[in-house]
Amino acid sequence: MSVLPFDDRDGVIWFDGKLVPWREAKVHVLTHALHYASCVFEGERAYEGRIFKSTAHSERLHRSAEILGFKIPYGVAEIDAAKKAAMQTNKLTNCYVRPVAWRGSEMMGVSAQKNTIHLAIATWEWPAYFSPELKSRGIRMAISKWKRPSPETAPTASKAAGLYMICTLSKHAAEAEGYADALMLDWRGQVAEATGANVFLGIGGELHTPKADCFLDGITRRTVIELARNRGIKVTERAIMPEELAKADEVFITGTAAEVTPVGEIGPYNYQVGPIARQMMSDYAATVRGQKIAA
Ligand code: PMP
Repeated sequence: MSVLPFDDRDGVIWFDGKLVPWREAKVHVLTHALHYASCVFEGERAYEGRIFKSTAHSERLHRSAEILGFKIPYGVAEIDAAKKAAMQTNKLTNCYVRPVAWRGSEMMGVSAQKNTIHLAIATWEWPAYFSPELKSRGIRMAISKWKRPSPETAPTASKAAGLYMICTLSKHAAEAEGYADALMLDWRGQVAEATGANVFLGIGGELHTPKADCFLDGITRRTVIELARNRGIKVTERAIMPEELAKADEVFITGTAAEVTPVGEIGPYNYQVGPIARQMMSDYAATVRGQKIAA
């Protein structure tokens, strides 16, 4: 990964309808989003020049904003086209795509009824979230002390910036102890997800994953459920208590950035990289590149 700071790079960023020089894509310090987290975003990935599930991501961005009570002034098709334009102008074919929408500066209090809504889209080269060595062994995960909130406490179905406060805290605490990531439980004490990815348990040849009722129902999660079912692997979405981590044969996480990443350790539990994880890694790698899945 590049060590260049993100505000000092070459290229362009799509900003409120125009492609602007990368270093000029700025907001004022008195921006509602910065103070009150009135901001939603997406994380997407392009493979060989094609953004995987671009429209699904643009639709989720719209939904996330609506959940926070604002409307993005660009349609889904416009956003899809803007992502492509940013990517192509930056001459990227395999990259990460980051659309972000936020409330501007017209009002600077809790109430922000009149604030204009902004949208920016940045694209950058981003090889792998976890290194190939980590992926081949399985990542080590801590169990976070932070709990995913109830949908009555926070807008949990939105990919809202504010929800990432506890993710950064969890990830920093895990990294400080040498782990790559953290598993988060929810307010009921059930297994929820990682700090930027969903989680699957392989038990007796079947997959079990927490019901996405208080965290992001990832686009990768949905893709992997479909890929597994196409292989005849039974997938159950249900409440999973942390004690069940003891009986899992294998564990993996899924996300746009993480793709399918096997887990080698969660707190006191250890796992081998299992056959379902391997199958899903290869099926997912083919699917995102529009290739036929090997029989
Ligand atoms: N949960 C969280 C908290 C995330 O940040 C992400 C990544 N967007 C996911 C799950 C996985 O979502 P997706 O598969 O749509 O990338």
